[in-house]
Amino acid sequence: MFINSIMGWFSNDMAIDLGTANTLVYVKGKGIVCNEPSVVAISLKNGKVLAVGSEAKRMLGRTPGGIKTIRPIKDGVISDFDYTGEMLKYFIQRVHNRKSFMRPRIVIGVPSGITQVEQRAVKDAAISSGGRAVYLIEEPVAAAIGTGLPISEPSGNMIVDIGGGTTDVAVISMAGIVYSRSVRIAGNRMDEDIVQYIKRKYNLLVGERTAEEIKINIGSAFPLDEELTMEIKGRNLVEGIPKTLVISDVEIREALSETISKIIEAVRMALEQTPPELSADIVDKGIVLAGGGALLKGLDVFLREETSLPIIIAEDPLTCVALGAGKVLDDEDILEKVMM
Ligand code: ADP
Ligand code: MG
Repeated sequence: MFINSIMGWFSNDMAIDLGTANTLVYVKGKGIVCNEPSVVAISLKNGKVLAVGSEAKRMLGRTPGGIKTIRPIKDGVISDFDYTGEMLKYFIQRVHNRKSFMRPRIVIGVPSGITQVEQRAVKDAAISSGGRAVYLIEEPVAAAIGTGLPISEPSGNMIVDIGGGTTDVAVISMAGIVYSRSVRIAGNRMDEDIVQYIKRKYNLLVGERTAEEIKINIGSAFPLDEELTMEIKGRNLVEGIPKTLVISDVEIREALSETISKIIEAVRMALEQTPPELSADIVDKGIVLAGGGALLKGLDVFLREETSLPIIIAEDPLTCVALGAGKVLDDEDILEKVMM
């Protein structure tokens, strides 16, 4: 114990949320030190990584020939091992001071559907970036810990994590996952819905990043108290020139409705498949929403209407996986129980 805390003092023990949209790094004693998009820009000529994170995201949709931007963990399953590894190394090395005395322990939150081979790839990348010991934990468990749910108790907690590539629904009891299901419908799909809607209705082509801004600014799942509008720019498909138009929350709600229904469907299915004792707990304690998608306006209200259950938005939906993984670093007992 004493030795461990001494070693912790000299090393930068870290916790990582390897998300489909964003990667966050938490360092013991310092908090979240890195929060960047999970995007890599590569050269098509030799496959070399040219940029990672924010710098690479700025290039999305704007790259000249010869450069490609990819999201290596797009669907929650690691679609590209090599680039996932390169990205992870980049983030770890940025945070880990190589001259520091001790090599860090690293806890990494990974999608719950990850295969053995993918687990190996993530661990190898973390070890070769200087990790002394690497532990993987499932993201829904980390999110629940980060939100402060009493996950070790024999009582059910339901967490719905709506990220970029996937929505993960999990029921957790006694530090383990009793039920989990991942659907590939989440924030990115909402962005695509908006692109398609505007194209169909106005013959206007907007980029993925503009669509995300529209979603964040005026997107909603349930009618709002007051109308929101936004001026958007895109390319008119008939005339081929850039155009501006004003779009409203009502239109965006319509664009998102099918995707929202599918997310609700996944929650319903989880409720149906939860063992009765744990369902009873969920009726009392409700569902916790995490991930960036939890911030969509009115999603909590809509879910409450649809399920008649209490819905709680995690205190900070975008950081709770990283914070939860961070708490695990500090607590050997919990680490023992939750590591994969
Ligand atoms: P992941 O864990 O998969 O990396 P995150 O939990 O970081 O995903 O969430 C990213 C997603 O949340 C993106 O699709 C982003 O557009 C969306 N998002 C972020 N903020 C908001 C918001 N205020 N309203 C709606 N969606 C949001
Ligand atoms: Mg996540």
